[in-house]
Amino acid sequence: MPELPEVETIARRLNTVLPTKVITELTVFHPKSFKGHETEILNHEIKKVSRKAKIIIIELSNQLFLLIHLKMTGQLIYSHGQTRIGGGHPTADWVSDLPSKHTRIQLSFADGSQLFFNDQRLFGWIKVADDEYLRKELVKFGPDIIDPSLTAETLFNHFKKKSVAIKVALLDPSIVAGLGNIYVCDALNVAQIDPFRPSKSLSLDEVKKVLEASRQTVEKGIELGGTTFDGMYVDIDGFAGKYQGVVRVYGRENKPCLNCGNLITKKKLAGRGTYYCPSCQT
Ligand SMILES: [Zn+2]
Repeated sequence: MPELPEVETIARRLNTVLPTKVITELTVFHPKSFKGHETEILNHEIKKVSRKAKIIIIELSNQLFLLIHLKMTGQLIYSHGQTRIGGGHPTADWVSDLPSKHTRIQLSFADGSQLFFNDQRLFGWIKVADDEYLRKELVKFGPDIIDPSLTAETLFNHFKKKSVAIKVALLDPSIVAGLGNIYVCDALNVAQIDPFRPSKSLSLDEVKKVLEASRQTVEKGIELGGTTFDGMYVDIDGFAGKYQGVVRVYGRENKPCLNCGNLITKKKLAGRGTYYCPSCQT
């Protein structure tokens, strides 16, 4: 599942090519993937592509928005002649002919370029939204982890009311948006905090460390274009991320901890694989 760094990377890449494009055709290959009417978007120009939490927001010239969530297996692929950029779930569709059998939505633009939304498992979606709908959608989320206005004090006040494990609290998007399993495991290793500790047991100083480590980890993920674990696709230019090369604990069971050299352990926590170092994460 793409996490914040992957989604941010896709939004940034699309923002280099989509602004000024005029949508001339909408093809819906699967009705489950699209909510809206083509009259709301046809012949309108794209102004900007941005992201909040894991939602990609395409702003149109008529004050409407296309909201896109990739969920488990979504991909966005922009294609113009020989140029192809995008991201999301790594599959052969990154490089094969499009539309494919997994293409759910196709947007065609006046200059002959296209944007494909592919999604094997059909959990992802594209919705046409007005300002009010967008606000309602975004109010479900706490501030982004990389939002500079988020303070350790705010997080501390949320955490002290919760008896869930600190890792579970960090994955709760209503508290803080944009932290997924890979980056949370790594951030807690940087902060040297045991992921199983109740969130209310953390001192303000420890929350400060966790916030700093989380930001640092997610920023590094963005800098490296996110994480691509599927070895078949790690070298595809304009798509693959490189964070997997610098991962600290995620996927490194029985390998040495980068802080202390002791071995990384994997345990389940709330159903998710949780990697940590029992020696230095206390
Ligand atoms: Zn360690």
